[in-house]
Amino acid sequence: MATYQFTDHKFDVVVVGAGGSGLRAALGCAQAGLKTACITKVFPTRSHTVAAQGGISASLGNMGEDDWRWHMYDTVKGSDWLGDQDAIEYLCRNAPAAVYELEHWGVPFSRTPEGKIYQRAFGGMTKNYGEASIQRTCAAADRTGHAMLHTMYGQSLAHDTEFFIEYFALDLIMDEGVCRGVTAWKLDDGTLHRFQAQMVILATGGYGRAYFSATSAHTCTGDGGGMALRAGLPLQDMEFVQFHPTGIYGAGCLITEGARGEGGYLTNSEGERFMERYAPTVKDLAPRDMVSRAMTIEIREGRGVGPNKDHIFLHLDHLDPKVLAARLPGISESAKIFAGVDVTKEPIPVLPTVHYNMGGIPTNFYSEVVTKVGENPDQVVPGLMAVGEAACVSVHGANRLGSNSLIDLVVFGRSAALRAASILKAGATQPELKPAMTDGHLARFDRLRNASGSTPTAALRLEMQRAMQEDAAVFRTSDALASGVKRLEAVQAKRGDLKVSDRGMIWNTDLVETLEFENLVVQAQVTVVGAHNRTESRGAHAHEDFPDRDDKNWMKHTLAWIDDASGKVSIDYRPVHDFTMTNEVAPFPPKARVY
Ligand SMILES: Cc1cc2nc3c(=O)[nH]c(=O)nc-3n(C[C@H](O)[C@H](O)[C@H](O)COP(=O)(O)OP(=O)(O)OC[C@H]3O[C@@H](n4cnc5c(N)ncnc54)[C@H](O)[C@@H]3O)c2cc1C
Repeated sequence: MATYQFTDHKFDVVVVGAGGSGLRAALGCAQAGLKTACITKVFPTRSHTVAAQGGISASLGNMGEDDWRWHMYDTVKGSDWLGDQDAIEYLCRNAPAAVYELEHWGVPFSRTPEGKIYQRAFGGMTKNYGEASIQRTCAAADRTGHAMLHTMYGQSLAHDTEFFIEYFALDLIMDEGVCRGVTAWKLDDGTLHRFQAQMVILATGGYGRAYFSATSAHTCTGDGGGMALRAGLPLQDMEFVQFHPTGIYGAGCLITEGARGEGGYLTNSEGERFMERYAPTVKDLAPRDMVSRAMTIEIREGRGVGPNKDHIFLHLDHLDPKVLAARLPGISESAKIFAGVDVTKEPIPVLPTVHYNMGGIPTNFYSEVVTKVGENPDQVVPGLMAVGEAACVSVHGANRLGSNSLIDLVVFGRSAALRAASILKAGATQPELKPAMTDGHLARFDRLRNASGSTPTAALRLEMQRAMQEDAAVFRTSDALASGVKRLEAVQAKRGDLKVSDRGMIWNTDLVETLEFENLVVQAQVTVVGAHNRTESRGAHAHEDFPDRDDKNWMKHTLAWIDDASGKVSIDYRPVHDFTMTNEVAPFPPKARVY
């Protein structure tokens, strides 16, 4: 093995990731006087949050009466009762303040004629506990994430966050169950770094790229989840993968749900607005899992559009072109570029596309990472937090409602900072790091850098992506999932035969993609094994051999560990928190999920 030298850094807090959640957490820690670093593999404003379109939910009540309890009810119901109700209460109660905070920092929200923050309708958001759709999603046209990310980056520079940009985090430095920091590789000069910290906050985003077709950026490779698994920690509810109903057919890029929020609707080959049959009350504004299933059924039953009858139309052509220009300029442009469609005249061809990971690193609502030890399902892992799409708090349960992720980023990014400020002492002495804590990191890095087998990373990645796309799709069966498990095992077996062509340390994108693939493949595996294991249907997990929700046996979170060397997955469970954090609101008992 080559010899490697670390450059050492010491901070109170190290945040890995500079998307919406990482920036909010870093900003809060720096504000609290903690010496804070933020490490990111891409420039902060290139994080996937920048691509978020439709908006951020909060019960501001700017477009008619609203109540955070209604938002809470919608989120619990949207989660198909797999979400933790204490965390959902925390989210919805704190959402309005979080949006006003963004407004005060300078996010250029769209406005109502009176000058209030504009809010649009989104799927599954209702008034008075399910009575009718409500306008709850605050928007900056259809570029909300762009506006938020740029504003928050500016704000975190105004505080004393120290940025380490184009540093690729490798692994967590663990010391007998305590996290002491993270190692990283600086991409532009090839140096290796040890970041020691009292607290590491993982904010590394989702792993959409485990699939062949996803709306997420190519950088969404779930690196934090991979690091957690390698540190011997479990991931939670990974079988719940969200398909967004309206990815552009062929290209896979997103047309926001806000398009339906502004009055858009879906049709089949008979010109029928079929959502009226599946969700009579809220129709096209049903939650994403239901709309994706309805579209898939229409296509399967021969009512898809196009020469191959393999997609669906989204109509905006009946809307006022002025509304389209003001409220949906970004997706109008995407439709033109990626589908050749003028949205004022023709429908957009769309298909359900992988969009979001409900599962992730389990945390409590303080954003502290938890694991199950013995009979204790809520054992905090000292020194480690997770926020954003990388985490599973769990507020989204089995299905996330549109616009509930952006609010999750800022509410729990803030909660992580508050918690860190309350339990850490700025500048406190930290124990010495020992080489044994990072020897494994170096050995792995060196092994991959010198991998000289016969399978290029891109080929093995494609094999994984195809297996996930085909076998862990909108609808699942025992046979397909069994095939998925086998195909992922085959991919796992070929990891020893990987071939990396570039041996360099500087801008070695071949090695970056290999490290990312290594993070993806373990998560793909726990996803498909978890899905095969869960013999019920709930939220985004639609199992055709077990079509009903089974609260008696399955109202529980899956925890999955993987042995990195053998690829063997082991599964255990945590109870769902069916209680609230205060007695101001009673938990919502499970019932049938109809809209
Ligand atoms: C096209 C699209 C549109 C969306 N629209 C909406 C919407 O309108 N409303 C809504 O609520 N949600 C929306 N979502 C979902 C939401 O945007 C994401 O869930 C959210 O932005 C994720 O934010 P994050 O902070 O968790 O991570 P990201 O924004 O994905 O950022 C991840 C960060 O981690 C860093 N990182 C990752 N790995 C490493 C590593 N190994 N080393 C160093 N740094 C690393 C990256 O550099 C990056 O800074 C949308 C998602 C997509 C894909």
